[in-house]
Amino acid sequence: MSSSVSRSLGPDTTIGILGGGQLGRMLAMAAARLGFKCHVLCPEPASPAFDVVRRVTEADYGDKAALDRFADDVDVITYEFENVPAETAAFLSARKPVLPDPKVLALTQDRLIEKNFVASLGIATAPYAAAASETELGEALAVIGRPAVLKTRRFGYDGKGQATLGPGDDPASAWAAVGGQPAIVEAYVAFEREISMVAARGHDGRIACFDVAENQHSDHILKISRVPADVTPAVAAEARRIAGRIAEAFGYVGVLAVEMFVVADGAGHAVMVNEIAPRVHNSGHWTLDACSVSQFEQHIRAVAGWPLAVPLRHGRAEMVNLIGDEIADYRKWLDVPGACVHLYGKQAVRPGRKMGHVTRVFREGDNCGTAT
Ligand code: AMP
Repeated sequence: MSSSVSRSLGPDTTIGILGGGQLGRMLAMAAARLGFKCHVLCPEPASPAFDVVRRVTEADYGDKAALDRFADDVDVITYEFENVPAETAAFLSARKPVLPDPKVLALTQDRLIEKNFVASLGIATAPYAAAASETELGEALAVIGRPAVLKTRRFGYDGKGQATLGPGDDPASAWAAVGGQPAIVEAYVAFEREISMVAARGHDGRIACFDVAENQHSDHILKISRVPADVTPAVAAEARRIAGRIAEAFGYVGVLAVEMFVVADGAGHAVMVNEIAPRVHNSGHWTLDACSVSQFEQHIRAVAGWPLAVPLRHGRAEMVNLIGDEIADYRKWLDVPGACVHLYGKQAVRPGRKMGHVTRVFREGDNCGTAT
């Protein structure tokens, strides 16, 4: 089985989604709007996506009997997170098309492989070096200098598996803080701003980019995305070029996000890639309310072999994540004129857990108050 859809799927076919978090939930809701059914496979009980789909398989990613039944039931398979085990993706792709192609997973699951790939395309990243041991960490720091950021090669997200090394910091403590795992050392980038490009590539190779988002993090977790980003047309064009180049090099089908740093460079700016997410992305949630097509619908269109939509933005947008206890604020947001409230239906509230988000769209002449 190849990882392409030989024909476009009709509505009333079934899309399989690996992963049952909020991204899977919003993908399924977009798919339902277009007439598709969804079947979610996820090991965690009471996953947010389970509430909104026709069928669920609560099973481990290594449960081959469950994977077989799942594959039998669906017409195409996609995923909502990049840490789907490679063996699972390979097992499934022998049975049904898996999009984006599982080879993208192998590349983006490992920060070192991902950085080497980006560099091989001639795209800038922060200077980096591999560190497979505490000794190698010392050697890498000697090359990269300080301040530096130590990041585990695998399974890091939202700042997990990361440690910053300032001039006086002890490498041994940083090494222990990331669990002594194979890692990379990156130069600390004194960026002017962080941006992301959420882009889609269709089965016909067409690429459609959303507008560049400007992202504000708090404790390494995305807090606010503002669109359009406050960047020059040259930076926006460079962000589009980078995302397009990466999507083409992957032969990608679906939505991907590229997180980037914008740094001052003489009279202008340079753009460096920080991370690629081979999936819909938190910094694209604004598209649900502020755009003619959401990132979720665009992804479903792509994996179903449908033509991509041309995204038209309705106004200036601001998306705020409700993280951990902030979910208690949702009632306050219900009274804010123009606020679109999205709750993920998660029962357990934990610090740092993404519980929901709110988007506001500001059009000229709207009387919606001001952004916070
Ligand atoms: P990451 O998990 O790589 O996306 O990193 C999470 C956040 O940490 C980024 O969005 C940045 O705010 C910050 N960060 C990561 N790498 C660097 C770096 N090399 N220099 C400065 N800040 C960084």
